[in-house]
Amino acid sequence: MTAQTGARSGSRPPVAFCPHCGRSLNHQAFVQEYWTGQSRVFHLWCRACRFTADVVPTERMLGHEPAH
Ligand SMILES: [Zn+2]
Repeated sequence: MTAQTGARSGSRPPVAFCPHCGRSLNHQAFVQEYWTGQSRVFHLWCRACRFTADVVPTERMLGHEPAH
C-alpha cells in the first residue's frame, strides 16, 4: 500500500495504488475522501480487481508483539 503521512486536505489522495492487486488507482478507479471525527478516510474501489477498502493515513501505530 502506498500511503503518505501528513497529507493535507485538498491535496491529492495519498493512495496511488490498489492495496490488494497493486495496480494504479487511475481515473477509472474510485477514491472518495471523507472524515470521521479527526480521521481523514479514503474509500477506494479498484476497477481491476473490484477490491474496496477504507484507508486511514496514520502518523503512529501501536501494535502487539508476541513474547519471545
Ligand atoms: Zn486492485
